[in-house]
This record gives sequence, structure tokens and C-alpha cells, in this order.
Amino acid sequence: MARLMGQMMQMPLMISSLLTHAARHAGDTEIVSKRVEGDLHRYTYRDAELRARKLAQALARLGCEPGDRVATLAWNGYRHFEAYFGVSGSGLVLHTINPRLFPEQIAWIANDAADRVLCFDLTFLPLVEKLAPQLPSVQHYVVLTGRSHFPAQTSLPNLLCYEDLVDAEDGTYRWPEFDENTASSICYTSGTTGHPKGAVYSHRSTLLHTYGLVMPDAMGIGGADVILPVVPMFHVNAWGTPYAAPMVGAKLVFPGPHLDGKSLYELLEAEKVSFSAGVPTVWLGLINFAQAGKLKFSTLRRTVIGGSACPPAMMRTLESEFAVQVIHAWGMTEMSPLGTLSLLKAKHAALDATAQHRILEKQGKVIFGVDMAITDDEGAALPWDGQSSGNLVVRGPWVIQSYFGRTESPLVALEGRQWFPTGDVAAIDADAYMQITDRSKDVIKSGGEWISSIELENIAMAHPAVLEAAAIACSHPKWDERPLLVVVRKPGAELSREQMLGFFEGKIAKWQIPDDVAFVAEIPHTATGKIQKLKLREMFKGHRLPTA
Ligand code: ADP
Repeated sequence: MARLMGQMMQMPLMISSLLTHAARHAGDTEIVSKRVEGDLHRYTYRDAELRARKLAQALARLGCEPGDRVATLAWNGYRHFEAYFGVSGSGLVLHTINPRLFPEQIAWIANDAADRVLCFDLTFLPLVEKLAPQLPSVQHYVVLTGRSHFPAQTSLPNLLCYEDLVDAEDGTYRWPEFDENTASSICYTSGTTGHPKGAVYSHRSTLLHTYGLVMPDAMGIGGADVILPVVPMFHVNAWGTPYAAPMVGAKLVFPGPHLDGKSLYELLEAEKVSFSAGVPTVWLGLINFAQAGKLKFSTLRRTVIGGSACPPAMMRTLESEFAVQVIHAWGMTEMSPLGTLSLLKAKHAALDATAQHRILEKQGKVIFGVDMAITDDEGAALPWDGQSSGNLVVRGPWVIQSYFGRTESPLVALEGRQWFPTGDVAAIDADAYMQITDRSKDVIKSGGEWISSIELENIAMAHPAVLEAAAIACSHPKWDERPLLVVVRKPGAELSREQMLGFFEGKIAKWQIPDDVAFVAEIPHTATGKIQKLKLREMFKGHRLPTA
């Protein structure tokens, strides 16, 4: 029997429509940027939309054709924002590269993506000059600045000036409509194991992700918000905030390269920012600066923290000392990136603060659109009882199906459907709140039992003398592995090994308490600001535990 089909318009979901919507309905709403050049730039959605169309014209004039990759090495700023729309909106593919990666990795990624144009901030001129001989596919280099800051000398052939390119166009361009499944942008995973892999997003996946993330139980962003994404636009599209802000017409504030506590604090206050998002490490700097100066936030009300587990102590500090609500979020490059966020249900209103905190500290509930499950090592589904922990798998319209240029499928089968294995180990409780215990490669296996490194770190971070802590597996002759806690003390604070270990007493089972503490001046971080466990394990490879 033939099905009756719906009779609604087939209007493709286009990234350009986010910006045309903002220009029309929030045309005078501002976009404020701290520039690499040092000053503050302000303009409106109406201006941004016109310039994005001129950029699309300029790229066509350079000979770019549908599907060509246009790469960026840039901080959060309005020109980068224009590229998000001018590139994707015209059918080209935006490739945001993380400039904090090793130069060899950047070259590898740019070659894998076969980037045709490379747009970069002035900051990265020396880096790009060094890389250029290794980038055969790049035909045009564009520096994101105006004539007055254009480099007088450079080894780059035919270096183009962004402002000249935009100024030369008349803006009569009309955004095209095409298949919503067309690639819009590409982001690479950091590649801690093997080479980085490209996740290719589409217009459709990006728009659905954007609808999902603005919802009240997700980021809950609206037109009355002022949004400052601290998370870089090269870290999974700043978690979708550059798309979400125009969708709801919210004011955007871009910090440029100025991510230290003082600069961020001043910008948050001056521009009346209400909402922000970033990894835990950036908040460490901001909190320290505010505490040292006994400062408060006068407008900041909510922030999304994710990318790695947010220490509960950080959530408490932001909430009780600064009246900032922390929304703990989990996701990954392969998920565009948002999967879960932690917000309370109505039935939790009656709980006391401690019980509420225990829920909010979890990674949270999925956004509608994403489905999750946990499996044992044989691939069988585990119950949602808050106790059983296993491999977390996901599916949904903004989860990848395959990697760029790879033929092998990363997916696994479960109950007759295809799922993406996240590589995270998690438990899900009866109320559907998911909690990550570890990345599968970071779990500490002691005598056949698993110890959660995240749980150990969360406890350590609550000690007033601890600035940062990381728990790693250290080999042990009897138990196979035992936890070693690596700690950075706060400046001037005193803390002994015994005091640190004593702090764990009564908070977890005795056998889970670390065997040893190593104090270091600094913990290594990845290009996205996460603790580099692999490097730490290498550093402490020869470490002899006192219990060994
Ligand atoms: P990479 O860290 O390799 O650059 P991603 O940014 O895609 O790549 O990282 C995704 C991973 O980060 C997740 O699989 C998970 O291990 C970790 N992660 C993200 N958010 C959280 C969180 N809130 N709690 C714990 N781990 C998290």
C-alpha cells in the first residue's frame, strides 16, 4: 500500500538563512570583537550579512568552486564569523584549523582536507610562512586584516588582504539554495591516537544542532542574551554558538586572542555579557583573577562548561561566590559537538541543594535528536541503573556516519541500528542522566576493578590548596595499575602528600584512594585545553609507587 506523503514545502535548511534571519529581525543587534590589531570593533548583524555576501562574491572571483575547502587559522572575531557564513553559505566548505596544534599536524590536516584557500589572523603570519612550502593545495593566502596592518614584507606568494577583497565587491550577491545535505564545514579530531580525522558537517546537521542547542534544557539562549564564546571558533565551531546567536538574534562578543582572566573579565563587564561557554581551564584563570581582586560579575548569569569534566568545586565556586549558573555539557567533534547537558527536572525542585548538585555534576540528559546507549565489551546493552557502566554509543542527525576520506565505517551495531562509539565510559541513571567515568583509554584498572580518574580529580580539585589535578594509571606489580595523582598547588599554598591523600578519606572507598601524589609546576594541556593524559603517563612511566 502506498503511504500518504506529507504536503509541506521542501525548503532546504541553509546556514546562510541564519544570518539573513538575524539581519532582518535583529538587524541593529551588535557584534563586538576584540581585534588582533588591539582595538575593539563593533558593527551589526546587518553589516555582517552584507560583508559575508561580499566575501562569497570574492571567493567566487578567486575561482573557488562548490565543495572547495576554505581554511581558517583565526581567533574568535567578526571576520572569522563572516567566513562561517560567506564560505558555507555559498556552497564552499569551511575548515577551521586549531592553530595551537604542532605545525606538522596543521600541515597534515590542511593536506588531508586539500584546502584551496587559507585565511589567517595576523598573529599567525610567521606560522603560515613556515607552513606554506608544505601546502601544495593552497592557491590563495588571505590575511584577515585591512591595508593599514597589511604586512610590508612576507615570503607568501600573492598574499591577499581580506578587507581589499571584501571592499572590491558590490554585495549584489544572493545566497543560493541547494541540497541541505551538502557539506558546510569540516573539523578534525585532535588525533591522540593515530592521525587526526575529519568530521564533515552538513547544512542540515548544523541547523538541526543549532535548533537543539538553543532549547531551554540545552543552552537556553534567547534574543535577550549577550553571548561571549570563550571556546574558540576552531574548537568544534565554538560549540555552535556562532550559529545559535543569529538564530535567536542575540548580541555576540568575541574576545579575539585575549583569553587571560583580566581581559575576559573586563570584556564580560563592559559588554554586559549574560552567557558564556568554555572548557574548565579557561574558567580557572577567570575565577582566580576575580577572586584576587574581590570582583563580582554584574551581568554574567549562565555558562556552559564542557570539553572535559567540570570539577564540582568549580561549579560551586561560580554558583555561590559569583551567582553564575554552570551548565555541565558533554559532546565531541564527531557530534557537532553537543550531546548532553545537565539541568534539573521539575521533580528535583524538592531536593536539598546537595542532592541537586549531585545531579548537576553529571554530564546530563541528551538533547532531543540524540539517542544514547551503554554497552558491555560484547556489545550488549546495559541497564540505565546509575551503577552499570560501559561503552557509550550515540546516534542522531548531527552525529557522524563516516570520516572524511576514509572508507572504513566507525559505526557499531546495536539492536538492529548503527551507532557511533564515543570511546567514553559512562553510566546512565533511571532518570536518563549520563555520567562519564572516563575515556576508555584513561581508566585505571586496579586488580580487575575500574577506578574513575574523573572522580579522583573532582575530589582533589575541591581541596583549597589545589589549582589543578590529574589522576593517571601507574603500573603496579600486584594490582596491574594503581592511581597516581599529579597535582599543581595554588601559588603560595602549602600541601603535603599526606594531607592530599588524607583528603580522600571518607569520600571514596579506601582501595580507590591514589597510592601516591606527585607535585608538579604545570600539567600539560592539549590544543583544546584538556589535560594531556597520554603525555602525563609518559612523564611518569618510570615512577615507582611506594606500594609497589
Ligand atoms: P579532543 O578532546 O580529542 O580534541 P573532542 O573535543 O571531540 O576531541 O573531545 C571529546 C571528548 O572530550 C569526549 O569524548 C570526552 O571524552 C571528553 N569530554 C567532553 N566533554 C566532557 C565532559 N563534560 N566530561 C567529561 N569528558 C568530556
